[in-house]
Amino acid sequence: MRRGLIDWLTGGLARSRIDQARPFAEESKIRIDAALIEVVIAGLPDPVVVLDREGRVVAFNAPASVLAPALRSGEPASFALRMPEIVDAIRQASATGEAQRVEFSERVPLDRWYEAHVVPVTLRHARAGARPDLVLMTFHDQTPLRRIEEMRADFVANASHELRTPLATLTGFVETLQGPARNDPAARERFLAIMKQQADRMARLIDDLLSLSRIELNAHRRPDTPVDLVAVVRQVADGLQTLARSREVEIAITAPEEPLLVLGDRDELVRVWENLVENALKYGGSGKRVDIALAREAAAGLAEAVVSVRDYGPGIAPEHLPRLTERFYRVDVGQSRAEGGTGLGLALVKHILNRHGGRLAIESTVGQGATFAVRLPLAALDESL
Ligand code: ADP
Repeated sequence: MRRGLIDWLTGGLARSRIDQARPFAEESKIRIDAALIEVVIAGLPDPVVVLDREGRVVAFNAPASVLAPALRSGEPASFALRMPEIVDAIRQASATGEAQRVEFSERVPLDRWYEAHVVPVTLRHARAGARPDLVLMTFHDQTPLRRIEEMRADFVANASHELRTPLATLTGFVETLQGPARNDPAARERFLAIMKQQADRMARLIDDLLSLSRIELNAHRRPDTPVDLVAVVRQVADGLQTLARSREVEIAITAPEEPLLVLGDRDELVRVWENLVENALKYGGSGKRVDIALAREAAAGLAEAVVSVRDYGPGIAPEHLPRLTERFYRVDVGQSRAEGGTGLGLALVKHILNRHGGRLAIESTVGQGATFAVRLPLAALDESL
């Protein structure tokens, strides 16, 4: 097998059938068939560049010319691959005959990270200890992996910070109760109430974190139980009546007579509107009114349910809109904390909707409130109604 491949690469078997064969490394009596190498590496998804022992380009595939547009056959690779790490690795690989692995990054036009393997190839005719005939370079784009690593690190840092703040408050009050306030019943009552609040906040945060990871775990499993969105929204609005009354906000629902059936997980869908309506009451409550509208719409031949939650509060400045569904992103951290928020509500909404094949659109004009509109595909059994 190995022998056959080398014969093939060096043109031993197929040379007579290749017209545009380009000879390299003539001096070692080996004819390296650049056209054949090019055909072989064309099928590989990652950038691949093959060099001769002098560091000149023998062949490269299309992904390689995207990575290094200046690559030209017959020219030194260092003209197109200028990263010092790469130039050095090629020199080392040709000089020592040992494979090299290097990492490098590009800053322009975007941050990208690559890993390159530079492998010297010695063909069978070579004498022992001779320099390699070819140098094979493969590149792997590490950018998506790096991004995930960064996101994970950010997430852990954020989650720990969010937990550490109430924990520090709790510890502070425990110490005060053990020391200076030991014999002060009035202070004890007040401090215990604050401690309960902080403990509740930690519990909410852990609850949201667990829900997020559970939803992510099931992200690729589409739920398949028919759920009526009209009933879900009415249940949520009923459940939030106490909060609405305390903020003196009226919730008005406009819904079709008949049910709006989607395939879903009822508890998760309840969570979506709990978050959206609760946010409207907490952040947009000054508008004194929250309108929830449910409707059936057709988009690109597909029947969809559209449910919008509109408040008449202060609204959200445009620069925040694209980031609202990021974990822990808040417009005003102080206000969110004061409202008992975790900064995870809209991230949960986004993940639940993704899992259901739905979308969230947020529109707002500062001073005129905000609209959070959810679109979900209607169940096929509902389309026929
Ligand atoms: P939180 O737990 O902070 O409420 P969310 O993810 O639910 O987290 O919301 C993120 C942020 O978006 C909130 O902190 C708030 O700043 C902003 N926000 C959400 N809904 C509204 C709204 N209806 N009006 C104004 N701001 C809102």
